[in-house]
Amino acid sequence: MKKKYQIVTYGCQMNVHESEKIAGILEEMGYERTEGEDADVIVFNTCCIRENAENHAFGNIGALKKRKKERPELLICVGGCMMQEKGMPEELKRKFPFVDIVFGTHNLWELRRLIEIKSSGRKKMLVSIHDKEGEIVEGERPCRTSYPNAWVNINYGCNNFCTYCIVPYVRGRERSRKPEAILEEVRSLVAEGYKEITLLGQNVNSYGKDLENGITVPKLLDQVASIEGKFRVRFMTSHPKDFSEELVKVIAKHEKICNLVHLPVQSGSNAVLKAMNRRYTREEYLEKVAMLKRYLPDAELTSDLIVGFPGETEADFEDTLSLVKEVGFASAFTFVYSKRKGTKAAEMENQIPEDVQKRRIMELVALVNSLTRVKSERYLGKTVEILCEDYDEKKGMFLGRDVYGRMGYFKSEKNPIGSFVTLKITEASGISLYGEEV
Ligand code: SF4
Repeated sequence: MKKKYQIVTYGCQMNVHESEKIAGILEEMGYERTEGEDADVIVFNTCCIRENAENHAFGNIGALKKRKKERPELLICVGGCMMQEKGMPEELKRKFPFVDIVFGTHNLWELRRLIEIKSSGRKKMLVSIHDKEGEIVEGERPCRTSYPNAWVNINYGCNNFCTYCIVPYVRGRERSRKPEAILEEVRSLVAEGYKEITLLGQNVNSYGKDLENGITVPKLLDQVASIEGKFRVRFMTSHPKDFSEELVKVIAKHEKICNLVHLPVQSGSNAVLKAMNRRYTREEYLEKVAMLKRYLPDAELTSDLIVGFPGETEADFEDTLSLVKEVGFASAFTFVYSKRKGTKAAEMENQIPEDVQKRRIMELVALVNSLTRVKSERYLGKTVEILCEDYDEKKGMFLGRDVYGRMGYFKSEKNPIGSFVTLKITEASGISLYGEEV
């Protein structure tokens, strides 16, 4: 009987894709996936962007203590961003001495070797963390779980050091993959039948700055979208300071590139943007939005927004609300500022009390939801092409997204996952659309 593995993933798409790479390593070792309690190896791929993600991971690791006692041969591995935080492996050792393997974001490729060492009878916890990012490892064979979408890394790390963000400390400096490797990966994914390619990076707009061949993200996108076949191209995440006219021209040139841009503004207040070290002003952000709309009047924008950043006044918060209204985001991820040890913002004075943060987030969420609802209602009676990506058991319906990222649900006798389906929208509810196949 084959041995089984389970991966528990926290955090962003980058982590979701890295879990696919971990799955690839384990399947090459002969393990097969399980979601049950029969796993022989459990890997936690952690996230440290917010405190509650860390608490959640700690809670779930701690819950395995009893199982590990009953089955000492069960291997528990903990990797991901949290393990790159200073002092975290030691804390893990103290709290959960029954964990077998600890690894970081820079040495995921080492997991096979670490499991082999541990399985050969080593008793003590095996900790392998690389402080510095190394060369990019090519030739990974991820075991993909998000068909018809495929995630493709284009760059890793970040040089921006926004004052609230821990990513540059745990993911290292920016490194770009060579364009040939990316194009080869996309070509083979399209040949395998993937219908949506999402190019991933902490800041995709910095792509190529560390290479010496003059490649940039607009040039790369142009080449990716020129590959033959019917598929869509998305990319994330874009830093507004690097969002260029050249990039917008490439989006406008290719039908394959979705007209949905995730452009995280974080705040609408110049004072807060400065304190966050975002390196653009409200006016500059709005000018980028206007530039996008000049080329693509129907393009949609989504954003990340933080409330309760240290020193945020009522007037600053009002600036965020007014910017959200002015841009009219299709949707947004809204967050209460989370203090991260080791970042500059964690040392700032004027941390905002929790009750004020709560009130502000509720107001912001209500505004974002109302904008989303209005946008959804505009779809009523229209036909849209969606890429069917999944089946919702609860609703008993298939679902997929259009080029603007709007989710559409529908019923179908056959299984259309991976097909482009045209829907006539009959109902709009919040962020979701419902329709009939035409
Ligand atoms: S751009 Fe800023 S928020 Fe984004 S990963 Fe880099 S430091 Fe973090």
